[in-house]
Amino acid sequence: MSHAQYIRPENLDEALDHLHRNGPRTRILAGGTDLVVDLRNGDAGPDFLLDVSRLTELKGIEASTEQVSVGAGVTLSEIQSSDVLKQHAPALHRCSFTFASQQIRNVATIGGNVAHCSPCGDTVPPLVIHEARTVLASKRGRREVPIEHIASGPYACSLPADEIIVRFILTPAPAITFSDFQKIGRRKSLAIARINAAAMARQEPDGRISFLRFALGSCTPTPQRMEEIENGMIGQRPTAKLIWETGQLLADRTIAITGRRPSTIYKETAIQGLFVRMLTPLVRI
Ligand SMILES: Cc1cc2nc3c(=O)[nH]c(=O)nc-3n(C[C@H](O)[C@H](O)[C@H](O)COP(=O)(O)OP(=O)(O)OC[C@H]3O[C@@H](n4cnc5c(N)ncnc54)[C@H](O)[C@@H]3O)c2cc1C
Repeated sequence: MSHAQYIRPENLDEALDHLHRNGPRTRILAGGTDLVVDLRNGDAGPDFLLDVSRLTELKGIEASTEQVSVGAGVTLSEIQSSDVLKQHAPALHRCSFTFASQQIRNVATIGGNVAHCSPCGDTVPPLVIHEARTVLASKRGRREVPIEHIASGPYACSLPADEIIVRFILTPAPAITFSDFQKIGRRKSLAIARINAAAMARQEPDGRISFLRFALGSCTPTPQRMEEIENGMIGQRPTAKLIWETGQLLADRTIAITGRRPSTIYKETAIQGLFVRMLTPLVRI
């Protein structure tokens, strides 16, 4: 177990001061649901644990016509009970219902989920479909980076040691008629995703899809937006045949990224099945 010194800053400035002086010797602690496991495994070994869980600057969920802002310190329980997210980012709202258990959701934060950079992080595909920008702060100032740039690979965070994720800025898609998040795990509850995916679409009264965003997680080193899949369906009136074929294309595209592995025999079918299950509601008879 770690013998790190525990530090709880009063505000973001104090936290950034500490990181400016001690960044490489510090681990940021939010809900601790990933970090404490790392510390128990002896993986982390920092000199300081900087507890950001009470920083008001990292809290809050707000929406305007241009953007939805979610603080990095927002917990999965807060996402689950947010009417703002239910309305403006329904896939993110929905992912909280199958995320871990109520006890974990009460402390686990969206910032920690993203910064842990697990390929299976459930909040990442919903953030990707909203083209989320990550607001980062350090003593050097603030900057914004696309959500896809936070992970440079599985469990590899690209942030320098003096930076904190402050918020995520999501672009709300106008007039969405469909949105979903789905996940396949080894069990029905408390399961890390083997495959997870988020989608949102606008379907015109004549059945045509005029807008689609689709992101897949857990199958590639980092969650990916699948633009080829989106472009193949935009302008079409979905049929069961089109959705099965597009599901196969999605599986093919994923295997092209990862190469064939022992798990491919399962994942190929499961990716197609998940896609079909998600997008079948768009088929109009
Ligand atoms: C039993 C169990 C079940 C789980 N089930 C799921 C699941 O269904 N789906 C899923 O996606 N995950 C699951 N997890 C993983 C975990 O709960 C999440 O990844 C969680 O969201 C991490 O957030 P946290 O606040 O606990 O982060 P912490 O553990 O405190 O931190 C995680 C990492 O993020 C860094 N960090 C935290 N906040 C910031 C910040 N603001 N800026 C920069 N870096 C930061 C930390 O330094 C650390 O490296 C599960 C974990 C457990 C133990």
